[in-house]
Amino acid sequence: MRPQALDKGLTFDLACDATINTAAHGDPVRLNRILLNLISNAIKFTPSGGIGVNAAAEPHDDHVLLRVTVRDTGIGIAPDLHERIFEDFVQADDSIARRFGGTGLGLAIARRLTRLMHGELTVESVPGAGSTFTLEVPLGLAASGIAQGALAPPSRQLRVLLVDDDPVNCEVGEAILKRLGHRATIGRNGTSAVELARDQAFDVILMDLHMPDMDGIEAASRIAKLGLPKMPRIIAVTADVSRGARERLAGAGIAKVVSKPILINALREAIEDDPAQGTTATQLAAGALIDRHFLEDQRELLGAAQIDKLHHLLDETGEKLIEDITKAAANGDHAQLARSAHQLGSAASALGLVRLFERCREIELTAAAMPLQECPSAARELAALREASMSALDDLLQPAEQRSLD
Ligand code: ADP
Repeated sequence: MRPQALDKGLTFDLACDATINTAAHGDPVRLNRILLNLISNAIKFTPSGGIGVNAAAEPHDDHVLLRVTVRDTGIGIAPDLHERIFEDFVQADDSIARRFGGTGLGLAIARRLTRLMHGELTVESVPGAGSTFTLEVPLGLAASGIAQGALAPPSRQLRVLLVDDDPVNCEVGEAILKRLGHRATIGRNGTSAVELARDQAFDVILMDLHMPDMDGIEAASRIAKLGLPKMPRIIAVTADVSRGARERLAGAGIAKVVSKPILINALREAIEDDPAQGTTATQLAAGALIDRHFLEDQRELLGAAQIDKLHHLLDETGEKLIEDITKAAANGDHAQLARSAHQLGSAASALGLVRLFERCREIELTAAAMPLQECPSAARELAALREASMSALDDLLQPAEQRSLD
């Protein structure tokens, strides 16, 4: 999130109390989601000054209390809204909501997730002076190292080259690969990745993209040019899954992306799904419009009625926003194009319409410099993507709605 803050001219301070050296069980995906929400709100609602994120862990007899605060010097929140902003669909100020988009669900979900983890999420704020959100979650103590549950062995043990310049990522990645039953070799930079790929046979290469000596795309291109008897499948490991990034990857012969932080099931799916054996390719294509795991999570957290409401809301506002986008594109109104694309993107993200969200974000970021003649085709593309995403969403939600009527 730091680049987003810096782009707005804000400072971004991160302080982490590293004196507590303990291992704990937790849910990294949910914690990550809550923090992303708090930090993106802090950036969104802070015109000047900065953001501070502070993390500490307090040891107790049978657990550690993880405490993360997200502080900003932004517009603040009126006292009568300190509780209400955690309710579904509540936004402190309509005009702000219009300007920034959003659905008013972020904090409601963040608090629900926190409470499911037996924690609490609170706010202190003074209008005009800024806000501090505090997340406290008790985590169970764990034996150090990665927990060793029983996992079914893979149908075939793979030789995997893991390339990453960060020692912690290498250690975690290696532990996960071992747990999955595969053989891991570590390459600590692009140059050694190319050498290892030349000298040893690998089935799969997991390639970090950002490395100081040679980036992952360059390393992949060089490996492709080695003329190996059997070319390993190269999978990129990155936090950047935008379409622009994917196109660059495809150019270097990288067909697949695993997002960071690496999760065991996502990694297993990626490395064990060999397209040559024709497994889940069609499943992936069908699922690509919508992040089903995310949608399932939303349904669990918000309940069917709220999902239904969100679905209708998205249907209505989406149609209206596509009209605005089409008009803005025809008039060459770049600022309006960016604003409407932003709003459509944030509405789409609430129900996990990932492709629409990513494309909206790209158009939002590039609108200012987009040549006039390209604007209408960008608008048409968004309209088509919205239609396809909504009908995929209808298909996914239909059975559940019918089930709840039965
Ligand atoms: P949204 O997706 O609309 O941002 P949230 O549930 O995340 O929804 O936030 C609800 C409302 O709380 C926001 O619309 C905003 O008015 C207010 N809010 C949240 N975080 C902050 C903050 N850091 N500073 C000021 N207002 C905030």
